[in-house]
Parts: sequence; structure tokens; C-alpha cells
Amino acid sequence: MINFDTLISNYLKKELRPKQIGKYFPSETGSCLRKLYYSYKIPREINQELSKIFEMGNLLHDFVNKVLNSSKNPDIQLIDTEVPFKLELNDIIISGRIDNIVKLNINEKLYLVEIKSTSSLQYTEKPSLSHILQLQLYMHFKKIHNGLIIYLEKNSLKSKTFEVNYDEEQAKLAIDRLVKTHSNLTTNVLPEPEAKLDEELIWQCKFCDYQDECENNV
Ligand code: SF4
Repeated sequence: MINFDTLISNYLKKELRPKQIGKYFPSETGSCLRKLYYSYKIPREINQELSKIFEMGNLLHDFVNKVLNSSKNPDIQLIDTEVPFKLELNDIIISGRIDNIVKLNINEKLYLVEIKSTSSLQYTEKPSLSHILQLQLYMHFKKIHNGLIIYLEKNSLKSKTFEVNYDEEQAKLAIDRLVKTHSNLTTNVLPEPEAKLDEELIWQCKFCDYQDECENNV
């Protein structure tokens, strides 16, 4: 008898590719800065369960693209998808992909869209700061100052959509956090355990692969 779980794990298995200091991702700007630091200094393979969750997110993105591109939804036009983003700032490169650019026919405006899959929408009353910062960074450099964050519940396809207005201060904060990370990495300065010290961020600790190192401040 085959074990399909094993087949999926084999299929999703990727070689460990350590991150390169100097190259950063917009999706990480809202991460606990200490966790982000460790992810460069102590590379770890993504565990199997997490890689399955990521793959599920990719599958949902494909579904969202079909929804946005459907002629059954005439109020919205899908302009572009998986839009490459690259920014060179002094000695660092920030690169990623914007999930979607859409145009709403009701107001003829362009919007940058970030899709986030979630196991439950129950407590999603507002977008997370981490997702807002990522979108602000994109809005700042793409000069499209309207954004949407869509949370999609994996097992029901229910969703919650939040409009995010461009905020220059937040965009600068998003950039500054990555610049600060670069400075910490190149000077070997361990950042404060940011998530542990903030009750709005402490949930990140539960999913952190570096709890032991963090506890021991190494
Ligand atoms: S355990 Fe929490 S505070 Fe420490 S690195 Fe991980 S996320 Fe940050």
C-alpha cells in the first residue's frame, strides 16, 4: 500500500538553501527581528508540515487568480499577477512578488492585492501589522497607493477583505526594519527578542524554530 503523505513530503522536499546576507524579502519586514536574524545566521530546513501549509497557500493563490480573472466578476479586472518586485538600496536588495494588481471598475482605481491564507478567520478583525508593512513597501515603490489584503480561510473558502491606505511612515518603517536587520547581521548584533516583548506579536514565538536559541540569547 502506498503512503500518500510520504509521496507529498517527497514531492515538496527542497534542498536547504541558506539565505544570503544582503538579500531581503518584503514578506519578512514584519517578522520578529530576532527571528529574522536567526534565519540568516542559523539556517534551518522548513519542516514538512510547514512546507505543506505553504503549498496549500500557493494552490489557493491559483484559485484566487481564477476568481479575479473570471468574466463572471465584471466589477473587477485582474491586471497582473505574481508581479516581480526588486529594489536596490545602497548595499542591499529587497525583492519579492506582489500577488496581484487589480482594477476596480466602480472607481477605475488600481489596487495592489496581497492574499493570505489562514486556518481560521474567527479572530481576524483587522489585518496584521506584518502584512500591512509588506503592502506599504510595495505601494510606496510601485506608486500605486491603494491596497487590499484578503484573508482566505483554507477549509471553507470564506474570506475577509481589508482596504489599506498608503501611509508613507509605515512604508519607511518597513524599509528601515530590513536595513536594520542588514546592519545587525553584518555587525553580529543580536536584536532584542521583539515578539516576546510585545503582546500583539507574541503569537510569533509559538511558530518560531529558534525558541531555544532565543531563550539562551545566543
Ligand atoms: S522565540 Fe519569539 S522573540 Fe524569540 S526569536 Fe522567536 S519569535 Fe522572536
